[in-house]
Amino acid sequence: MSRLVMKFGGTSVADLARIRNVALKVKREVDRGHQVAVVLSAMAGETNKLVAWARELSPLHDAREYDTVVSSGEQVTVGLLAIALQHLGVPARSWLGWQLPIHTSGMHGSAAITGIETKEIEARLAQGQVAVVAGFQGLGPDNRITTLGRGGSDTSAVAIAAALKADRCDIYTDVDGVYTTDPRITPKARKLDRISYEEMLEMASLGAKVLQTRSVELAMIHRVRVQVLSSFEDLPGTLVCDEDEIVEQQLVSGIAYSRDEAKITLVRVPDKPGVAAAIFGPLADGGINVDMIVQNTSEDGKFTDMTFTVGRAEFERAIHIIERNQSSIGYQKLLTDKGVAKVSVIGVGMRAHAGVAQAMFKTLAEKGINIQVISTSEIKISVLIAAEFTDTAVRALHTTYGLDK
Ligand code: ADP
Ligand code: ASP
Ligand code: MG
Repeated sequence: MSRLVMKFGGTSVADLARIRNVALKVKREVDRGHQVAVVLSAMAGETNKLVAWARELSPLHDAREYDTVVSSGEQVTVGLLAIALQHLGVPARSWLGWQLPIHTSGMHGSAAITGIETKEIEARLAQGQVAVVAGFQGLGPDNRITTLGRGGSDTSAVAIAAALKADRCDIYTDVDGVYTTDPRITPKARKLDRISYEEMLEMASLGAKVLQTRSVELAMIHRVRVQVLSSFEDLPGTLVCDEDEIVEQQLVSGIAYSRDEAKITLVRVPDKPGVAAAIFGPLADGGINVDMIVQNTSEDGKFTDMTFTVGRAEFERAIHIIERNQSSIGYQKLLTDKGVAKVSVIGVGMRAHAGVAQAMFKTLAEKGINIQVISTSEIKISVLIAAEFTDTAVRALHTTYGLDK
């Protein structure tokens, strides 16, 4: 007998028929003798609707109230699945984040899990009950509901799998695995049998929405075996595992993209020590993640233009913070561009091979795509381009690196 965590995403629980399908899948594992904890998302589209409501009332809303609102979608699905399981004769009960509790940091809207109390669910699992846990949510140090950032139920699932020492964490979704790039962008994308934690971490953090970045981080730290597979078809999925479990290592294993970017340029900032700290300090204090940064110094060396990117969802707050700090930063003009996208090439094979970046730049040049910002690490190269060229860039790079099926 083994212990499994099964996580189902929004499309997998989008309506009652799909929730019944999930119940049957869970029952099958219970009938095989496994102990099962289930983690669920809200019904597809629900969280978007809730987020939009909060934004419409106030773009700079209270993050604690935002969490109260947007966490509600998962309350519906866990209750419904528990009912569906009970209807099939499978003993089950639902748990909200605060009921276990799943402890988190106090960063509302993007809280990190700090600990999970599992005693109660362990006892129920031992009795053959299914624990159905609401993903995406927890309880903050202020005793209020927190959420883990968009896509956060993947992280709930992996954290619960780690806390329960589960044998595997199965992430059921609307694709049958992790592909070389988003299969919605190109039909030539190939399913990977296996992907290393490290590459998956880069893919996720660079935009591949199939797993939330933090879930991969947790899986890597706690060595949780994560499998990504389809809710709708019985096909083998993709195993996220150690690099040395992968026999055939490619130079480039995937292409990721993100349209959730916004570019901010501060024009003519005095070029003196402390200027970067004056800009990025207040943003960090405000919980805003700055991603790519470029700095251009003027010819006379007295001024600099500072360009950087932030997540689209954090854009308004970032602008608000920058404008509030205008006098201490001392910029002359603020330019913004929401029509940008980041495209990245990822592969552990890059560590040992030169020329990967050059192939990327050449491919984009041939397509007439201008690169606005570049950033690199040991196993990835990212470029910022105009959003309208995203699909073209991803498809062309997919071909360049020999990933087409
Ligand atoms: P869920 O609601 O199940 O959590 P998500 O929408 O969050 O599902 O994630 C699944 C989606 O991730 C897929 O529908 C696919 O479009 C997208 N995706 C992006 N990059 C990849 C990739 N490299 N491999 C597989 N899916 C990807
Ligand atoms: N429902 C949440 C979201 O849409 C969490 C998740 O789906 O993982 O972001
Ligand atoms: Mg998701």
